[in-house]
Amino acid sequence: MKSFRYHVLFALIFFNGIYGLHSAISSEIKSEQNSKPNFVVIFADDLGYGDLGVFGHPTIRTPHLDKLAHEGQKWTNFYVAAPVCTPSRAGLLTGRLPIRSGMCSDKRRVLFPDSNGGLPQSEITIARALKENGYKTAAIGKWHLGHKSPYLPTDHGFDSYFGIPYSNDMSKIEKTDHYSLAENERFLAYNVPLMRDDQIIEQPADQRTITKRYAEEAVKKIKEFKDEPFFIYLAHNLPHIPLFRSEEFKNTSLAGIYGDVIEEIDWSVGQIIETLKEQGIAENTLVVFTSDNGPWHIFKTHGGSSGLLQGAKGGTFEGGMREPTVMWWPENIKPGVVMEMGTTMDLLPTFCGLSGTELPADRIYDGYDISPLIKGNGNGERDVVFYYRGERVYAIRKGNYKAHFITQLEYGNRTAHHIIEEHLNIENSPTVLEKPLLYNLAEDPAEKWNIAEEHPEIIAEMKEVLAEHKASIKPVENQLEK
Ligand code: MG
Repeated sequence: MKSFRYHVLFALIFFNGIYGLHSAISSEIKSEQNSKPNFVVIFADDLGYGDLGVFGHPTIRTPHLDKLAHEGQKWTNFYVAAPVCTPSRAGLLTGRLPIRSGMCSDKRRVLFPDSNGGLPQSEITIARALKENGYKTAAIGKWHLGHKSPYLPTDHGFDSYFGIPYSNDMSKIEKTDHYSLAENERFLAYNVPLMRDDQIIEQPADQRTITKRYAEEAVKKIKEFKDEPFFIYLAHNLPHIPLFRSEEFKNTSLAGIYGDVIEEIDWSVGQIIETLKEQGIAENTLVVFTSDNGPWHIFKTHGGSSGLLQGAKGGTFEGGMREPTVMWWPENIKPGVVMEMGTTMDLLPTFCGLSGTELPADRIYDGYDISPLIKGNGNGERDVVFYYRGERVYAIRKGNYKAHFITQLEYGNRTAHHIIEEHLNIENSPTVLEKPLLYNLAEDPAEKWNIAEEHPEIIAEMKEVLAEHKASIKPVENQLEK
C-alpha cells in the first residue's frame, strides 16, 4: 500500500514536471511569437484616397476593409514617398526617400522593361532586415524595383517571389486603347511576364485571374509560415489600368469595371484575414493596407477617385500622395481613426522596432517608428512630409501647413480646376511658382484656400526646412536612367 502511494506520488510529480515543462515551452514559443509579430503589407496600385467604402466611396463595396478599419485603425493622413510606382515602392521597402537610393528621376518617372537599373544592393529592404532576425519572407505581386538580377525580390531578402515584375500596362504589343482592351479582356495585348522567383513562368500573364492568384499565393504562404515569424509583401498590380477581374466579379459592382476590380481586391483581403484567423495567428499579425500613389484620373471611369482631395497620380497635391490606409492587429492595436501623419517609409522602422530588429546606423532613414500610434501608447514623431516628384521637392507639409513651391496636379494636368485657372498653366509641365502657395490641411484638406499672403513667416520656415533637407541628400547613381 505504501509503495502504491509512492508510485502515485512519483507519477504526479513526473506528470506535473512534464506538464510544467510543456507549459514553459508553450509560453516560450508564445512569447517568442509575441516578441516577433508577423507583418503583412497589402499594397494596391493607383487606388485613390476616396476609393474604399470606409473612406467614403458611395458605390464601391469594401466590407472586408471597412471591417478591418472598424476593428483596427483608419489612417487619414498617411502618405507615400512619391506619386508614382517605382519611387513609391523604393520608399516603402527601404524606409528612405527614393532620392537617397537613386530610385527617382526627372527624365524617366519609373522603371520600364528596357531599363537596366533597379534597387541597389547597398539598400536594406524590410525583408532583408527581418530575415536576419529569423523571419520568413515572401514577395507577391508587382515589384517594379528592377526586373533583372541583382534587383529582383529574391536578391533583396525575399525567400520567394510570385508576380509581375513591373506595371501591367507595359510591353504593349497591340495598338489599341486601354479601355477597349480591358472591356474585351484582351490581356494578350500586354506581353507582361509572370515570374516565380527569378524565372518567367507565364507570358503574357493572364491578368484576368491575377488578383485571385495573388490572394491564393498569400494564403499558401501564411499556412506555410504559420509557426515562424513572417513578412509578406503583397503588392497588387491592380487597379492600375488596364483593368481586369476574375469571372466571379464581372459586372457585380455599381461602380462598373473599376468597382469590380476594387471589390475583388477587398475579397482577397478577406481571404488573408480568414486564413490568419484559421491558423490562430491573427493576434500576432499586423496587417497594413495602403496604395502606392493616387488614382490615374486621365483614364476617367477606369481610374479611381481622390475623394475630397485634389489632384491624382503623378502630382504633389494631396490626391497624388495621401493614401487610404487601414491597419489591423487584434488585441494589440488601439482601434480608432488616426489623424497624425504617417508614411510608408515608417513601416521599416516600425516593423524593426516591434520585432527587436536592429537597423544599421550607417545611413539616414526618413521613416519613424509609429508603433506608439498603432498601440495607442504614445505620440508620433513625424512633423514633416516632403512631396517629391522625380528628384525635386515640390511641396512640404510641416504640422498642418503645406507649402507648394512647384505644382503639378497630376499626370497630364488635364483636369480643369480653379487652382489651374488661378495659378497654373494647363501644359503638361510643372509650374515653378514665383510666390509659393500655402494651405492649412487640417482646415482645408482639399487645398482650396491659399493663405500664403497671411503667413509669410510660415513660408520662410518651410524654406529653412527645405534647405536643411537638401543638405542631407548625397549624390548617388541614378537607377532609372540606366
Ligand atoms: Mg501606382
